[in-house]
Amino acid sequence: MSVLVYTESDQGTLKKGALEVASYAKAVADKLGTSVTAVAINANNTSELAKYGVDKVLNISNDALKAFDAKIYANVIKQAAEKESSQVVVLSSSADSKYIAPLLAVSLNAGYASNVIEAPSSTSPFTVKRNAFTNKAFEVSQINTEIKIIGVSSNAFGLVETSGNASAEDFSPSITASDVKVQSVDKVTDKVTIADADIVVSGGRGLKGPENWGMIEELANVLGGATACSKPVSDLGWRPHSEHVGQTGKPVASNLYIAIGISGAIQHLAGVNASKVKLVINTDPEAPFFKAADYGVVGDAFTVVPELIEKLKAFKANQ
Ligand code: FAD
Repeated sequence: MSVLVYTESDQGTLKKGALEVASYAKAVADKLGTSVTAVAINANNTSELAKYGVDKVLNISNDALKAFDAKIYANVIKQAAEKESSQVVVLSSSADSKYIAPLLAVSLNAGYASNVIEAPSSTSPFTVKRNAFTNKAFEVSQINTEIKIIGVSSNAFGLVETSGNASAEDFSPSITASDVKVQSVDKVTDKVTIADADIVVSGGRGLKGPENWGMIEELANVLGGATACSKPVSDLGWRPHSEHVGQTGKPVASNLYIAIGISGAIQHLAGVNASKVKLVINTDPEAPFFKAADYGVVGDAFTVVPELIEKLKAFKANQ
């Protein structure tokens, strides 16, 4: 009857999102008076999960699962849910988990609520609050099926540390062949991705050309963040499409989003609404982005950004 949580890893290392969904699963388990079981696929070390409320880890180690395949992963998680008789399965809102969740819902005959931002306000009926309309509204939903699948919105619940130990168990589900077999995945970059980054430094057309991206990369490096851009910037070929943020690009749910030379068109804002703190640097005080910003600097990026980098470097050197 334990709450099952799928804890994603990247090349063997647990993702930060895995700790957040574990924290969420713990909150659900407390409300239901039960425990939390995590299912981890090809993760090297899952001991950290105990700190976030996991009581048991089902470790699956199988070369056939090295390349992500939504159908196969969904089937593996289904077997874990059946083994644990889980009535609630928790996943993140990563692209992979968003592929898995509907497949899992169909196979378990479960109801699925995505973009959930809070622990359930009630477990009978099971009631959750979700982001809706690209984070411009909230929706309260009831899941009335026996098994419930929850997709937790990134950075919405946060990490909640607790004390406790987790037992570990090797789990060997049967692996079914998929109709389309993923043979290998070549990553575009080893850098932290926009989806996983705590800090995202994003540039727009106000930066005039690709030759000026050095300062964007340097600021991201100093902050340990990822770089991103507006749609026209990737359309112009100044930056790769993998960095394009917005309605037609990637969503960002970082703790800090720094928008430099980006006007703040509604299609761009749709992709950054879920970020906690937004800092905008723009020469135009009337730029729409300022209305959505937590902090704003009216100024020329070519003056402000290098100064910001220097100040941050000095601050770090004195720490
Ligand atoms: P601009 O609108 O040209 O703004 C540049 C900004 O830089 C201005 O505010 C200017 O004041 C400022 N600036 C200029 N010089 C400086 C300087 N030296 N220092 C600081 N600031 C300076 N856009 C997206 O980003 N993502 C999407 O997913 C997306 N999807 C779309 C989908 C559809 C169907 C449509 C129609 C459009 C979409 N767009 C999307 C495009 C969107 O409408 C805007 O055109 C785009 O976001 C503008 O990009 P920008 O802010 O970089 O450029």
